[in-house]
Amino acid sequence: MTKYNAVTEEIIQQIKDAAPGHVLVGDAVNEDYAHDETMRVETVPKKPDVVVEARSTEEVAAVMKICNENHIPVTPRGAGTGLSGGAWPLMGGVVITTEKMNKILGYDETNMIVRVQAGVLLATLAEDCTSRGLMYPPDPGQKFATLGGNANTNAGGMRAVKYGTTRDYIREITVVLPTGKITKFGAPVVKNSSGYSLMHLMIGSEGTLGIITELTLKVVAAPKKTISLLAPFGKEGDGLRCVPRMIRAGLNLEAAEFIDRVSADKSAAYLGKEVFPKVVDGVECEVYLLMTFEGRTDDELELEVERAAEILQDSGSADILVADTPALKKEMWSARDSLQEAHVSLVKRTCSFDITIPISELADYMVFLRGLADEEKIHFSCFGHAGDGNLHIGYYDDSLSNEEFDERIERVTEKAYARCKEIGGVISGEHGIGFERAKYLPAQVGEECIELMQGIKQVFDPNLILNPGKVCFALD
Ligand SMILES: Cc1cc2nc3c(=O)[nH]c(=O)nc-3n(C[C@H](O)[C@H](O)[C@H](O)COP(=O)(O)OP(=O)(O)OC[C@H]3O[C@@H](n4cnc5c(N)ncnc54)[C@H](O)[C@@H]3O)c2cc1C
Repeated sequence: MTKYNAVTEEIIQQIKDAAPGHVLVGDAVNEDYAHDETMRVETVPKKPDVVVEARSTEEVAAVMKICNENHIPVTPRGAGTGLSGGAWPLMGGVVITTEKMNKILGYDETNMIVRVQAGVLLATLAEDCTSRGLMYPPDPGQKFATLGGNANTNAGGMRAVKYGTTRDYIREITVVLPTGKITKFGAPVVKNSSGYSLMHLMIGSEGTLGIITELTLKVVAAPKKTISLLAPFGKEGDGLRCVPRMIRAGLNLEAAEFIDRVSADKSAAYLGKEVFPKVVDGVECEVYLLMTFEGRTDDELELEVERAAEILQDSGSADILVADTPALKKEMWSARDSLQEAHVSLVKRTCSFDITIPISELADYMVFLRGLADEEKIHFSCFGHAGDGNLHIGYYDDSLSNEEFDERIERVTEKAYARCKEIGGVISGEHGIGFERAKYLPAQVGEECIELMQGIKQVFDPNLILNPGKVCFALD
């Protein structure tokens, strides 16, 4: 394992000189900086020695240079909402947070791009775009993540079925390399076939290759009209099998989410309100599809709804509830957005998965996952992005000892990942590998890929100081 040096008083002073007034040490370092939102952790969070609340690219560069020269580990951090442990400073050292780099630097509406600092929150940009008749399409459930964090996990979210993920909206980034050098990857243009795409290597690299300080993002014209439908199904398989049919039919589907029975119950308990009705027309609902359709006119939208209704009914939907007012639409989507919070607020110990599989496999894989829960006598719930096959699975049980829970989860994880690979899936669709999934990555991608990833990491970061223990270099 790489050896790092201690952060001495002398180094702290150098860092304070490089970022005057923006450096926290000792008791001023909040415990929150030791972790992100990742649950089920055998690993004990370790507070960093120093937190730098950077205000500029140059400040980040100056601090990185000092850390590189002194072999001090550095963990980049956005809002700390990650779900793979990417922002955990496993080796202590320095955390550089972009939270205070939160300015929208300007729009170029001719080229349909916006330039932002990395610490701008997704919610801030989304609202600002809406006020201009624009839309920034990536829409993960957590709106208070930073755009730098979204870029580093290649965040997906609800609209990926139509618009793709964060990767598809990044045109150019300013990056501070682990050596402290400042560079730009990409360009503010639509097409780019100019050599290896280092920008795309950076996207989803979870703070292991460099620190993104600015981004130029693509925006689109906001859709003129949208409507949301909620379709409850008595049989889970019927609901899940219907999504590929809607996509194949060419419906203008902006989002297609699914919520299983247990997740719907948790939502009701958490919100104190049953947004996803338990029984519809005498049918006990096992799963719900929550969808949004786009159109340019009311007529177009009506046609979308009619065509969707045909497929939904033919697939066995118990009913179709139309969110025809902004208030109803907001209520349904807020309930969907809060599913992760509902889950973690109601259970103490859980292991969350972010598996993505081909959408054709959704129904059968869910049966397989439930079977694993039965085998191990552990609880199971699931919701996710039905339109792109991305499942947010929770295995949980507060009645077990830590050791028993971890043993069962280990067996479940091995089997769930093995089947996922067999059917062409991946172990993370949007949350990333971080340290939580690092030990499972070699089995997923193979040794050759891991060696290539490690080689790339070493070119960017010869002293391996940036975000140790993550992605392709798991700690032993
Ligand atoms: C309730 C809830 C719902 C969620 N829903 C979704 C969802 O629907 N879709 C989805 O994709 N994710 C979702 N997430 C996960 C999380 O919001 C995303 O991973 C988000 O992109 C993390 O952004 P952040 O600013 O919080 O980054 P952090 O958690 O601070 O960091 C994430 C990773 O990026 C690195 N990093 C952060 N900023 C930078 C930077 N500027 N330069 C280099 N590296 C950096 C960190 O080192 C770390 O490895 C959800 C999380 C929660 C808690």
